[in-house]
Amino acid sequence: MKKFFFISLLMVQPLLYAADVNVYSARKEALIKPLFDQFSQETGITVNLITGKADTLLKRLEVEGQHSPADILLTVDAARLARGKNKGLLQTIHSPLLEKIVPAHYRDVDNQWFGLSLRSRVIVYAPERVNASDLNNYIDLAKPQWKNRICVRSSANVYNQSLVAAMIANHGLAKARLWVEGLVHNFARAPKGGDRDQIKAVAAGVCDVALVNNYYLAGMLDSSQQRERDAATAVKLFWPSQNDTGAHINISGMALLKSAKNPQAAIQLMEFMLSEQAQLWYADNNYEYPIDPSIKSNSALLKNWGDFKADQLNINLLGQYNADAVMLMDRASWQ
Ligand code: FE
Repeated sequence: MKKFFFISLLMVQPLLYAADVNVYSARKEALIKPLFDQFSQETGITVNLITGKADTLLKRLEVEGQHSPADILLTVDAARLARGKNKGLLQTIHSPLLEKIVPAHYRDVDNQWFGLSLRSRVIVYAPERVNASDLNNYIDLAKPQWKNRICVRSSANVYNQSLVAAMIANHGLAKARLWVEGLVHNFARAPKGGDRDQIKAVAAGVCDVALVNNYYLAGMLDSSQQRERDAATAVKLFWPSQNDTGAHINISGMALLKSAKNPQAAIQLMEFMLSEQAQLWYADNNYEYPIDPSIKSNSALLKNWGDFKADQLNINLLGQYNADAVMLMDRASWQ
């Protein structure tokens, strides 16, 4: 089995050279390649891209170890980047520029990874069955009034683990535990599908509210498929916790791998990715927000949702509380 894995990797992988910057990316090629091409044009440095599922790439990096050709890992969720760090796959990035651009609460405490864009986990609701005035914060979704009305994906998903970790960091373990139990009690169905499926379920009347990352809703509104557009227009976005902690924030981010054969050029590429122009392009094309708070997104879809209060929690805590979060979700039988 393992042998087959190696052979299949060799067959699908383009030739990677040490002089180039090699990027393992959990983001799709179309959403990053144009930026890399521009970087190559400006610097003469070739960027090779291997895309794959986030957890598969982490596994692959573990298997390859120091022999990995990868210099940079691009992936999503602070807890996942923390996982890479805990596995000893990353190294500290020395860049005054990156430290200046990325606020301390959106990067690793040892500068082993940096945020690249921001996303929020928001509430979507069916306006014909829910008044916006019925909604408030994450905590209230555990109240009895939401019994059988909530859709959310499985607890295996890191986005939910990070939301629960944030609840632990903000409210303490005991209160977070009661919240998870109440929330699970209010599920309209056993968790299944991804965030887009939860939006479709609200639109179809399976549930009245769902917790999803906001870029999925934007992507569906902008979709080439009529069905996705229809579902997205049937629901509304609500910014949770505007009167307390602020809406839960997570990142897409980038890390320098310990295996990097070309760390200087890799850091150069990371600095390029955080130039104002690159951040705007990247954020707009992924329906996310630039990591630098002084840069404002041009996206009409995002502007339409207005400004919101973002949770200022240091996202290192999402990795720190990940195990506790998984434990709470398990105990509450969040499938
Ligand atoms: Fe996602």
